[in-house]
Amino acid sequence: MAGLNLNLKNNNDRALGAELVNLQNVGKSYGQGAKRITALHGINLTVREGEFVALLGPSGCGKSTLLRIVAGLNIATEGQMLYRGQPLSGVNPHTTIVFQAFALYPWLTVQENVEAALEPLGVQKLERTKRALRLLDKVGLDGFESAYPRELSGGMRQKVGFARAMAVEPELLCLDEPFSALDVLSAESLRGELMELWLGGSVPTKAILMVSHNIEEAVFMADRLVVMDKNPGHIIADIPVNLTHPRHRKERTFLQLVDQVYGLIMGKTQTDAEELGTPPGQPGQTRALPHAPISRITGLLERLREAPHERVDIYMIAGELRDSYKEIEPVIEATELLGFAAVEAGDVVLTPLGQAFVDASILGRKELFAGRIRRIPLIQWISGMLSADNDHRIEWDVFEAALVLEFSREEATRQLDTALDWGRYAELFSYDKDTESLVIDEEPSLEGVN
Ligand code: ADP
Ligand code: MG
Repeated sequence: MAGLNLNLKNNNDRALGAELVNLQNVGKSYGQGAKRITALHGINLTVREGEFVALLGPSGCGKSTLLRIVAGLNIATEGQMLYRGQPLSGVNPHTTIVFQAFALYPWLTVQENVEAALEPLGVQKLERTKRALRLLDKVGLDGFESAYPRELSGGMRQKVGFARAMAVEPELLCLDEPFSALDVLSAESLRGELMELWLGGSVPTKAILMVSHNIEEAVFMADRLVVMDKNPGHIIADIPVNLTHPRHRKERTFLQLVDQVYGLIMGKTQTDAEELGTPPGQPGQTRALPHAPISRITGLLERLREAPHERVDIYMIAGELRDSYKEIEPVIEATELLGFAAVEAGDVVLTPLGQAFVDASILGRKELFAGRIRRIPLIQWISGMLSADNDHRIEWDVFEAALVLEFSREEATRQLDTALDWGRYAELFSYDKDTESLVIDEEPSLEGVN
């Protein structure tokens, strides 16, 4: 198992210490008889002091089940779960779980909510107050101590949840999709706060195990990505993240890793050439871009993200968007071409990369999108021609003339229109009216905004 070949140090320079979690051939089934579901099978996993491990995989692959076993809230039906080498009985006293939506007591203030978690541990009142204030300050809630949960935004409530979990000073912090119920900005700010607490070493937490369905988030935060698949839930890869903090979502190595994990989760059924068509120059072989405007692509993906199991029947979605099938078809085709969705048995299903896209910030979305379309031959060809040009500028007509060799004039124009719409969104190139040319974006506006 890759988990055994760990480096001595991880990339945040924390020495890797003792083994905290050790799952040995763990399996878990729910229910009896014909209704029996095997949620997990043959899980071998260790988590050491100093590690931030992310569990990734499709919905239903047993991520939450695994986390609950580690926290002692579920019992494995096969194999063994050891904590510091000892079998667990009952709830694991060394862990705290933070869930997607943190349950706060509505009748207690923010500060009282945090203190309440310390009371059962026998922490004295003075110390409870001290710790609560310190943690609230650390997660950026200074000044909100006496507010009530209903007065806070979702993001701030989740911060209280984190403060409460951290105040308990768990040796192992377990997180089950803790950011997924938050809006993009709150999620991003809370990720930042957590990384500061963790990397700054100002909390006694020795390891973090985080479930995520968001590949980008996992690559941003974790030292190791444990990728799972389902039926039954099992581990398919254990990948170290060798990027130093702070990480940048638009860096090539970052995007490559996101792509690699995406490929692992989706499996590669087609070669790139089949997937993306062949470049111009081999007449008659260029795969036409589906004519799908960016707004329609993002609209479909956002709709899928909200759907149960992130899948929707194609005809239903066409009806809902008041489209004919003919109108929605290129949009679905585009999301497939980009790897953001897949079509299965008449349904459109969001892929993990699609999830990462929807959950990303505006800039993160552009980056992911750019990473995908850079591989499309038509886009590659346009970008390549523009970079080779001294002024990074070539007339529209030149591109059109080249494409007319392959498409009808009308279709050549539409192909260029779509390429421009996508390229502009990805900030790869844009159109200059004065010279009627395509130009490379010299100063990507992405720079420095993050
Ligand atoms: P994930 O968190 O990766 O989405 P879960 O651990 O929630 O996966 O679920 C794994 C599988 O176990 C799913 O098929 C789910 O329906 C099933 N499952 C989870 N919890 C229960 C339960 N309490 N009773 C019966 N089946 C369950
Ligand atoms: Mg889950």
